[in-house]
Amino acid sequence: MTTEVQKKIGGWGRVSNTYTRLITPDTISELIRVLPEQSTIARGNGRSYGDSAVGLDSTISMKKINKILTFDIRNGTLVAEAGTLLSQILECCIPQGWFPNVVPGTKYVSLGGMIAANVHGKNHCSSGSFGNSILWLDLLTKEGDVYRCSRTSNSELFNWTIGGMGLTGIIIRAEIELRPIETCWMVRHSNFTYRLEDLIDGFDDTRSAEYSVAWIDPKYYDGIDIKAILFTADHAAVDDLPFKTPHPLRRNKGNPWSIPNFLRLQIINSFSIKIFNLVYYFMRKFGSQKQIIRLDKFFFPLDSVSDWNRIYGKRGLLQYQLVFPAKTSYVGLRMIFDAINESGFNSFVCVLKKFGTDDFEFAFPTEGFSLAIDFPADIEVYSLLEHLDQIVLENQGRFYLAKDVRMSKHIFWKADERAQKFQKFRESNNLSSSFQSVQSVRLGL
Ligand SMILES: Cc1cc2nc3c(=O)[nH]c(=O)nc-3n(C[C@H](O)[C@H](O)[C@H](O)COP(=O)(O)OP(=O)(O)OC[C@H]3O[C@@H](n4cnc5c(N)ncnc54)[C@H](O)[C@@H]3O)c2cc1C
Repeated sequence: MTTEVQKKIGGWGRVSNTYTRLITPDTISELIRVLPEQSTIARGNGRSYGDSAVGLDSTISMKKINKILTFDIRNGTLVAEAGTLLSQILECCIPQGWFPNVVPGTKYVSLGGMIAANVHGKNHCSSGSFGNSILWLDLLTKEGDVYRCSRTSNSELFNWTIGGMGLTGIIIRAEIELRPIETCWMVRHSNFTYRLEDLIDGFDDTRSAEYSVAWIDPKYYDGIDIKAILFTADHAAVDDLPFKTPHPLRRNKGNPWSIPNFLRLQIINSFSIKIFNLVYYFMRKFGSQKQIIRLDKFFFPLDSVSDWNRIYGKRGLLQYQLVFPAKTSYVGLRMIFDAINESGFNSFVCVLKKFGTDDFEFAFPTEGFSLAIDFPADIEVYSLLEHLDQIVLENQGRFYLAKDVRMSKHIFWKADERAQKFQKFRESNNLSSSFQSVQSVRLGL
């Protein structure tokens, strides 16, 4: 059965909510039956930060279209409906010794959402983005036709859909390739740095590790440069484990905890950076540089707090994610950190990743460095972000649409020369008036 309600919805940042007709079909045939006449957009699990998964007129929630259809244990391939969550996929494949090639920083995202945003993980340099593991996907048009798209059939549509933010149609199912793992543990190394140059060099020095990511305190203290911990990691083989276990693939995910209401604002206002510094200090002093840690702890640290996006209170949070090409990365990042320090704002989550090349038409990653920063959605922060937009433009960077809720059309078109090509593709395939999100209308796509 399909449910339909008029509802105000937004994204994970809880900043901008829009009234939309939220249609929730429970099967693919129901979805085809109730396809609205006016423009619409698909919605996965609403983990994009802004307004990309909200339709101006209607929004199709894929939440109930969430079955794993087949899992080939021998070859590590899996077919699932688009609303299936990554957490369900992990439940199914890890006990059998398989793992997705690429995962984002939360497991509460849908398969369709991962394809539409072409998500990247901590291994973009070695494995590329999520799109690389898609063997085929089925795409539903506004007319109710389903196209199977792959590298060899309907390949143009395939290449625009991966990273196309739902603007090419509704992904209804897909087949993905997995990679073998021996255990659900990771071998992680922590490297502490105090200088941006050292951090950037550190990513190169640790190239042999599959995964790398740096957590940063962007504040300069008494002339000291940014503080960062660069984590590198590989999947642990059974022989890497310092203990014997008959069940190396048995996960202990732990239960997510919730922050009490009275602590929320204080945490963001004053404690967060102190917490970072405390963790930094203790890890450096007492922590071992090499640790065996659980896979969930490495890939999805933020999932251990169930509703951490609420700690910003009613105002919500803005996440800002950019990528600079390799040649401008150092200068661009330095300018971003200078601007943050001058503004007096600080960030709860500030994460740096290194990217390799990406071939999908509208992929966010490009070879270079990507920075993701959280800010409380205070009025003054909007002017800081406008300043950061200019720095990104000046250094030939671009923006991640899965995190955006505020960028102007002017900035977007200046930063991304592919916008025009995408707009043309949408127009010539009759997609412009069929699939629209609040974001796509704001950005003039
Ligand atoms: C804590 C956290 C950590 C994150 N870490 C990362 C990270 O490391 N790397 C990264 O790349 N991203 C990251 N993200 C962003 C997140 O992975 C993406 O926004 C992802 O698209 C969210 O999936 P979703 O199912 O919630 O999609 P939604 O937010 O519901 O939708 C996102 C986009 O996908 C489209 N879409 C969804 N389902 C379909 C479908 N069936 N057919 C067509 N289009 C569809 C929507 O129209 C929209 O444009 C993170 C987000 C959070 C909250």
